Order: sequence, then structure tokens, then C-alpha cells
Amino acid sequence: MRFGALEAGGTKMVLSIGNENNEITERISIPTEGPEKTIRAMNEWFAQRDIAALGIGTFGPVELDTGSPKYGWITRTPKLEWVDTPLLPDMKEALGVPALIDTDVNAAALAEYELGAAKGLRSCAYVTVGTGIGAGLVVEGNLVHGLMHPELGHIPLRQEKDDPAPEGFCPYHKGCLEGLANGPAIEKRWGRKAETLPPDHPAWKLEAEYLAQMCISLICTVSPEKIILGGGVMQQKHLFPLIRAIVKERLNGYICKDEINIDIDHYIVEPGLGTASGATGALLLAKRALKIG
Ligand code: ADP
Ligand code: ZN
Repeated sequence: MRFGALEAGGTKMVLSIGNENNEITERISIPTEGPEKTIRAMNEWFAQRDIAALGIGTFGPVELDTGSPKYGWITRTPKLEWVDTPLLPDMKEALGVPALIDTDVNAAALAEYELGAAKGLRSCAYVTVGTGIGAGLVVEGNLVHGLMHPELGHIPLRQEKDDPAPEGFCPYHKGCLEGLANGPAIEKRWGRKAETLPPDHPAWKLEAEYLAQMCISLICTVSPEKIILGGGVMQQKHLFPLIRAIVKERLNGYICKDEINIDIDHYIVEPGLGTASGATGALLLAKRALKIG
């Protein structure tokens, strides 16, 4: 049996085919252009592959309330052409198969929870630090939705005194987490691409500080059993020990758990599935869609 898995991103769409064993067998990537052209191209590709169901992990915000007439629509996005786009309904109708949608990070969190770094636990947070910052949450085995869905990237942060750009760059909130710590914020603050900054550059201490504040917020609100950090910026592996040290120091022993006080190296971790969490999560959503019908 074949399943369709779509990772819908602001710059590219990654289309995959997977099987019952959660293996990805085929994958292509197409640029995200206008919704009409892009959705038509995606429908054509999936239609040729005889899929039993479709799973979508998407950029957002996206309407996830299955009772809403706008279920599965991209609602509001800086990509203006995509505002109010019925992504899920358009694909479901064209392909005639069961389909489920969630945020890209919820899909990744689901994959890490079922098959990756959080396998066997009851909860986890998956955070991507890339062009944007976002978190997917699994709590007691359920993907967290709610009023809309978590938007961890936009929590307010305490700016560091030695930050040369403490005002931040989020078009909505300026110095929120995303406005201070996503890839583009690093680039704007230091005048060069994040991937070109050497490991001893002050950018990384500052980045670790902001990401540690985020981890502390997660620990104190959601209390996840594992925090998984992925996305382009986290390719800088030296960030992990810096973040862990700040989290441990700031919590100051208040959370009486060995996971934090003794073994934080296995608490704040890289994705167990590497860069495959998103596609695998979309595949798992497709399998869920088939079960639900
Ligand atoms: P997206 O979020 O668009 O899906 P990524 O997760 O790759 O894609 O994030 C892209 C952002 O991450 C860019 O701002 C880029 O500068 C930054 N980035 C990508 N690779 C690295 C790297 N190896 N080190 C630091 N930053 C990186
Ligand atoms: Zn913001």
C-alpha cells in the first residue's frame, strides 16, 4: 500500500511516497509558487502514484478544528497569495482519498514520538529552528491543538544586554523568540548567513541563551519528557551543550528530575530521525487518515 506525504513549506513543497513500514520510497521537491499552480502540480504528481491516503504537515497558521468549515485551510501567512487557501479540501477532493493535515512541526513531533527520539515516552516537544521557529507537541499521546495550535515561535523573550539587535525582527512582535533567534534574525544581526559564522562567534552564545529561554518555558508549561531540536540552525551541533548548560543553571534545581539535573544530554536532543521527521510524520498522518476513513 502506498501513502502520500506532503511537507508544505513556504519556499518548497516536498512530496513523498511511503509504505506501511514507514519507509519513504520516492521523493520530489517543487518550489512553492501561487497556490493554484502549486496545488495542481502536487495533485498531478500524487494522482499518478495510486496512494491510499494523504498526510500533510504544513506551514501555518492552519485551521485544525475538524468542525470548522475552514478545516485544513491555510488561514494567515506572510505569503500573501496563500492567505485563505483550502489546501486540504482541494487536495482531498482532487485525489479522492482520506487525508489529514497538521502543522509541519506537529507532524515531526508525531514521527519522533512514534519512531524517533521520544519513542516509548508519553510526551515530547519538537522544535524547528530555521527560517521560522515552531514547536509541535505530543502530550499523553495526542498532538496538541487548541484555540488554534501552539505558536511557540512567538513567545516573548527577555532580550540579552549584549545583543547588538535586541529589538528583534518579527513583523508582528519584533523581539519575540522568532524575531530574535530564527535563521534570518541571526543573518540580519550579524550581517552574514548563520551557516558562515564560526563556532566561536558570539552569535552562538546569544542564540543558545534565547533557545535556552524557550526550553525553560516549555519545561515549565508543557513539561515534555523530551525536547527535540531540529531545523537548519540546529545543524550547529555545538549549540546543544551550550543550551543544556544554560537550561540547567537557570532552573537551579527547581525541577527535581534526573532528566534535567543529571542526564540533560539525553533530554534536550537532536531528532532521532535526522532530517526525515517531517516526511515521516506526514506519512503517519496519512496512515491515521486511512484508519479514520
Ligand atoms: P526551513 O525552515 O526554511 O524549512 P531550514 O530549517 O534549513 O529551512 O532553515 C533555514 C534557515 O536556517 C536559514 O536562515 C539558514 O541561514 C539557517 N541554516 C541552514 N543551515 C544552517 C547551518 N548549517 N548552520 C546555521 N544555520 C543554518
Ligand atoms: Zn513574533
